[in-house]
Amino acid sequence: MKNQVVTELSEISTQQYKAIRFIAMDQLHRNYGALRQADPENDLIVFIENQGSLTKRVWHIQRTFFLISSTRHFAETLAEEGFTTLYLKSESFEEGFEKLIQAFPVTKRLAAEPASHRRLALLEKFDFQLIENDFFLTPKEIFKEWLAGRKTFLMENFYRNQRKRLNILMDGDQPLAGEWNFDQSNRLAPPKNYQWPPYLAHKRDKVDLELIAQLRTTYPNLWGNDPDESWATTREGALLQLDYFLQNHFSGFGPYEDAIPPASESWQVHHSLLSPYLNNGLLHPAEVVEAALNKFEEGNIPIESCEGFIRQIIGWREYVFGMYQHFGPEYRKENQLSADRKLLPLFNNSKATQMECVRDTIEAIENRAWVHHIPRLMILSNLALLTGVKPEAFLDWMSEVFIDAYDWVMVPNIIGMGLHADGGAMMSKPYAAGGAYISRMSKYCSSCKFNPKLRVGEDACPFTTLYWDFLDRHREAFIRNPRIAQQVRGLDRLKDLAELRKRAEFLFDQLEQGKI
Ligand SMILES: Cc1cc2nc3c(=O)[nH]c(=O)nc-3n(C[C@H](O)[C@H](O)[C@H](O)COP(=O)(O)OP(=O)(O)OC[C@H]3O[C@@H](n4cnc5c(N)ncnc54)[C@H](O)[C@@H]3O)c2cc1C
Ligand code: SF4
Repeated sequence: MKNQVVTELSEISTQQYKAIRFIAMDQLHRNYGALRQADPENDLIVFIENQGSLTKRVWHIQRTFFLISSTRHFAETLAEEGFTTLYLKSESFEEGFEKLIQAFPVTKRLAAEPASHRRLALLEKFDFQLIENDFFLTPKEIFKEWLAGRKTFLMENFYRNQRKRLNILMDGDQPLAGEWNFDQSNRLAPPKNYQWPPYLAHKRDKVDLELIAQLRTTYPNLWGNDPDESWATTREGALLQLDYFLQNHFSGFGPYEDAIPPASESWQVHHSLLSPYLNNGLLHPAEVVEAALNKFEEGNIPIESCEGFIRQIIGWREYVFGMYQHFGPEYRKENQLSADRKLLPLFNNSKATQMECVRDTIEAIENRAWVHHIPRLMILSNLALLTGVKPEAFLDWMSEVFIDAYDWVMVPNIIGMGLHADGGAMMSKPYAAGGAYISRMSKYCSSCKFNPKLRVGEDACPFTTLYWDFLDRHREAFIRNPRIAQQVRGLDRLKDLAELRKRAEFLFDQLEQGKI
């Protein structure tokens, strides 16, 4: 029997439910988590839209739209299947849970184990029975086995274990095509005169349009440009995106994985744009991996692209989740380089910078709440690292403006990888780079007022100056790190170090004022 989603507790029939199943906004899959064994006849399904968290911070409008609209659509599909479905708007989760318990004091409360530490504490406080989190491919025990006795946590090592354990791209006990990793072939700069396939537009339906019409008035703090058709808000849309990627982008994924053309040329490059759906549950990683392997088996997909993509899903994504669990709730506060600068104005305003690479990246985020991993790492995080922005401030900003941000994925990517704030517990070297890297992987420098080759003088690229200044300020921390010691020793050959330090001071001042 088809039902309608109800939004008030008073509208719910007071029958005795077998269980209340709480579905978080990042667990929107019918076959996993708390819904796997749900029974439409006897269970009450509950969603909570936390109004307090939506108004307390400055979220990107597209992120807010995507999360709410996906959840509302998903709640509708459950009601249509016959579930009694309650979609409660509440000032906080606490308030929502308290109301629920008042109405159903003795009913068993079930939820899938959440991915984030904070949510876990909350569900435990309200006595939810937790069902194993199966939204990832690696059970907790398996990750713990991999960690056991290790002093270093190399992703590559974890990834090879995953390939063998899941029997993916294997030829017996050896990697298919003889290599575990085709990274060396996957570092091409953006090509000239290349036709990037257009991106898939996701049509807006009534639920989307009603939400878009209300968003700015309901949540006046929202940042960024209004939702366009970049992001799907239903499982059907997410599956279309998966198929579109496999048909149009998969074969070129590998070689241009790290390339940064201007967003006006291609904002998607050959990336899949699947992270929002993988992270809110509309797609399960097992479905994505299976579809990619099927496509590869049909032929015409180079191994570099297939292996590169598979590594992101069964390697990086699972590794980051496992490391987040391993490091625990205090990890997000790490600040081992004692970085204490406030967030620079340019992060919130693409017009507050003259650096072309940064301007275009921030503008792309304003437009769609997304850029791929290289601008995230080598432009945004690199700039925050070199300028010593406080990790928690940068983490908060990244979490607010990206469509796919969740604590479990942002924290290790920023604290461990982007800002090296954990002193190397996760990554063996900081991802610090001067303008030369950006110049090689993008087309920005030719239209920028700065010169990536110069480290001093008015035309010096801020990345280049600040890269050397960063090494200089952290000599002690890095001189014994074999992966970066050579660059640190390079400081001794710089004849213009005094001038460089002065230029760096000037840049800090100008960056803080939003002038450079
Ligand atoms: C500083 C920094 C912050 C990041 N923050 C996030 C974040 O908040 N949420 C997020 O999902 N990804 C994050 N990433 C990883 C990566 O940038 C995005 O997953 C990717 O850009 C999403 O676009 P896509 O789906 O087109 O990815 P593709 O390039 O097509 O890759 C396929 C999938 O691999 C997974 N993946 C790849 N790299 C990572 C990684 N480092 N960590 C986790 N998953 C990965 C994602 O699920 C992604 O959808 C971050 C990376 C960096 C360097
Ligand atoms: S010169 Fe420097 S600031 Fe300008 S685009 Fe190149 S890397 Fe960015």
